[in-house]
Amino acid sequence: MLKKLFQSFRTPVRRAQHRTTPEVLNSGQHSLHRGQFSRHAVNIVERLQNAGYQAYLVGGCVRDMLLGITPKDFDVATSATPEQVRAEFRNARVIGRRFKLVHIHFGREIIEVATFRANHPQEEEENSHHSSRNESGRILRDNVYGTLEEDAQRRDFTINALYYDPVSERILDYANGVHDIRNRLIRLIGDPQQRYQEDPVRMLRAVRFAAKLDFGIEKHTTLPIKPMASLLRDIPAARLFEEVLKLFLSGHAADTFEMLVDLQLFDPLFPATAQALEHHPTYTHTLISEALISTDLRVKQGKPVTPAFLFAALLWPALPERALRLQSRGMPPIPAMQEATHELISEQCQRIAIPKRFTLPIREIWDMQERLPRRSGKRADQLLDHPRFRAGYDFLLLRESAGEETGDLGQWWTDYQECNDSERRDMIRELGNKDESGAAPRKRRRSSSKRKRSDTDSSSASGE
Ligand code: ATP
Ligand code: MG
Repeated sequence: MLKKLFQSFRTPVRRAQHRTTPEVLNSGQHSLHRGQFSRHAVNIVERLQNAGYQAYLVGGCVRDMLLGITPKDFDVATSATPEQVRAEFRNARVIGRRFKLVHIHFGREIIEVATFRANHPQEEEENSHHSSRNESGRILRDNVYGTLEEDAQRRDFTINALYYDPVSERILDYANGVHDIRNRLIRLIGDPQQRYQEDPVRMLRAVRFAAKLDFGIEKHTTLPIKPMASLLRDIPAARLFEEVLKLFLSGHAADTFEMLVDLQLFDPLFPATAQALEHHPTYTHTLISEALISTDLRVKQGKPVTPAFLFAALLWPALPERALRLQSRGMPPIPAMQEATHELISEQCQRIAIPKRFTLPIREIWDMQERLPRRSGKRADQLLDHPRFRAGYDFLLLRESAGEETGDLGQWWTDYQECNDSERRDMIRELGNKDESGAAPRKRRRSSSKRKRSDTDSSSASGE
């Protein structure tokens, strides 16, 4: 798979040229017809055109339709400004800080309408209020409207720069996108180095589309990625959170992970886990791959996926080293785990802003790993009632599938859930006073301080 993804195209490489006149594909020259597209999106295009503006369906929906994939959503590009669009539609809302866009609502369907934008060259920007770059050339704001041709050139990949007019049923292709779709290639428009400098997130997008579409990444588009990967460190953490979710909730997370590691993009996103991959490659790789394979399966089955579980798995392999380091400084195992958890999550949030509503369950899932071995008395039943039990149990099975030794704890919990009450009582009785690390049974202790101590004897959730 990977080899295929990175194959370069066999015929001589054609860099996307700046074209002022597009290649036009008439209705007989491509497979699209207007009836396939969202009725609402087509109506918007028609209404804008009737009002005298240029308007097209653009981007992912045209690309996906040409590939026989059902598009996630339908985007419209137009010469009308956001205010002009809003004036045409009652159900329109102007949104966006980075870019001004219009959302037109039809019940649950939202059609995004964007005004043609230009990617202004650096010299023109010195005194501009509309567009600015930082020293490394990254575009910070770009609300500069432009022509259709300019709009095509500022898009990221050739396959994302196709414009479909549902009225004439023609495709306008400014960047040889149809050629690249036929040859299943992700290719940046323009000079790859410059395009990554302008927006390093394009490196992640290249990987996302390669995995989603099972395309190769064209050679010139691939080459600058490794040397430029560290530019991702400057991307705002909130934007990276959104991008990382798209990467791992696409239904192709396992392939995406392989590509990110291979192109050295994983390191700037998850520095601590990247270190764990270096120190314990087999365990770390297996645990993350297993988590992503089951995530992909759930996405394909239409089952809900919680980002908390995903991040819990992506970060878990980095935890033991930290906990052990704290222990070596004299901290007892449980506080050391808690401190390591706190450190790891807050460090990670500097790169990828994981919202609190997810960091809390991440901690609970990890905390559950400490509690699952402690089953005596009423503890097992209390754990079963815990709202995070299922996630914690699934996480335990994940750790086992990556080769962690837990003394068959996963199987015990599987059995326990399937048992009736009296069988459960027997299972607890069979545990006796045996402590969770499998040591010989001890006599029951009364003193609460001693009971507390025996809690810390549980097998560590250190992950190794
Ligand atoms: P998906 O199916 O994942 O939504 P998409 O192609 O629609 O794929 P979006 O992120 O929704 O991707 O972006 C819509 C379009 O906007 C893209 O097709 C591309 O033309 C353009 N675009 C988005 N992000 C960038 C970027 N960082 N640089 C340049 N163009 C971009
Ligand atoms: Mg889209």
